[in-house]
Amino acid sequence: MNELKCPYCFSDIEYFPAERVYKRAGYGFLFVCKGYPACDSYVSASDDAKPMGTLANRYLREQRKRVVHLISEISDRNKTPRQEVMRLIGKVRGVKLFRVGDLREPQTEEILANPNVFAASVEKLLVPAVNQETLVLKLPLRYLYIESHTRPAGALPYQQYRGHLKVLNEAAKNGLVNKVTKRGSRQIFWVLTQAGKTLIDYDTNPHRTLYNA
Ligand SMILES: [Zn+2]
Repeated sequence: MNELKCPYCFSDIEYFPAERVYKRAGYGFLFVCKGYPACDSYVSASDDAKPMGTLANRYLREQRKRVVHLISEISDRNKTPRQEVMRLIGKVRGVKLFRVGDLREPQTEEILANPNVFAASVEKLLVPAVNQETLVLKLPLRYLYIESHTRPAGALPYQQYRGHLKVLNEAAKNGLVNKVTKRGSRQIFWVLTQAGKTLIDYDTNPHRTLYNA
């Protein structure tokens, strides 16, 4: 962090307890512009003392709060964990790890100018549009994830399902499955997304579907 500068005044950055800024205890640490408080610019630190994004002035902090609020709304409305919503936003934006703290002014403005467009881009991945493309995938995916197993499988190993690449690639394109590399290994899996689970009735009652198929 030492080599980083304040994005507003280009001063160096200090690391100290948030209490010095918030005047209240219990908020961990901050990375703060050396020009503070004249330059009102800082960002929270994670537990392992890394910045949770880039330094923000009051305006940008407020903007980011509004984005956080919007994400909570999307999460509540769709009964989907925040973590999953964040993952999907990353997918939409083409970043590996999406953090609100990485958004700069123009990006927050773009999101907040059209919050419905932003929400829709994420929700599209949560609930598949019932269209020709997803409907033709319903039966093959049900077979792969539910009916060909004694117990429904949420994830299928890539190596063993090479014969089904066409279906699985098409499903990935439509946001029904994700190609995921298991952390710390080279194993690749096809993992059902929430949209995929909804399409094939995976969550609703996976065991019953075995008999009603
Ligand atoms: Zn500054």
